[in-house]
Order: sequence, then structure tokens, then C-alpha cells
Amino acid sequence: MIIIRTKYLPPSRNYSAINLFGVFFVHPDVQVNKRLINHESIHTAQMRELLYLPFYIIYLVEWLIRLFLKGNAYFNISFEREAYKNESNYDYLEQRKHYSWTKYLRMKNGAKRPKPRKRFRRKLNKKY
Ligand SMILES: [Zn+2]
Repeated sequence: MIIIRTKYLPPSRNYSAINLFGVFFVHPDVQVNKRLINHESIHTAQMRELLYLPFYIIYLVEWLIRLFLKGNAYFNISFEREAYKNESNYDYLEQRKHYSWTKYLRMKNGAKRPKPRKRFRRKLNKKY
């Protein structure tokens, strides 16, 4: 995975990293750890199986729909739910079946928001 540190991407300070077509952009002060790389690698697998562009279209449409539904729209996107649920399972990508993210499209009652990355979030609150 190619990792580029830049203060310009993602454009918002609310997000510390963005994966664009398998290239991972992070703000300079963000700690890149094994779990974060695994999370982004899961997104890269999702992108590849959808031939990249449809991934972004589905991601955006799902986020827009989930804005009107219960819970946090970002954390409830199926791609994010798959990535957060499995980011600590470092063998996940070897076992993962294609289109596994579709299992996360349907929200079950009581779906939990994934645990925030404490060290990661703390850094986001820093003033620049
Ligand atoms: Zn993600």
C-alpha cells in the first residue's frame, strides 16, 4: 500500500485519512498503525472487486441514504462496517470472500458503533 502524508488530503480535519484508488493519504501527524493499514486494505479490496469507481458511487449514495436513518451515517455505511468489524483481524483479507461488504448492507437492530481509535481521535482534536 502506498502511503502519502499530506495536510491537504483529506480536505476536512474531521477525517485523518482517505483511501483513493488504493493510495492512502494521511495527515502528517496521524499515527499509521497495523490496524489502520488493515482497515484501508479492506477498503482497497472492496474497491478492486467493484472496479473502483462504483465503490465511490455506492459509498456516496449509501452515506446520503443513511443520513436520514438512525445512527451515524458514516459508521453505518456497509463498507465501513465491514472494515471496522474486521480491522483487528489481520488474517481477514486472506479469508474474505468477494463482496463480503454486502452482508453489512442490512442493518440489524442494535448495531453498535465501532470503537473509536482512541489515540487516533485524540490527535484529531489538536489545534493546528
Ligand atoms: Zn473506512
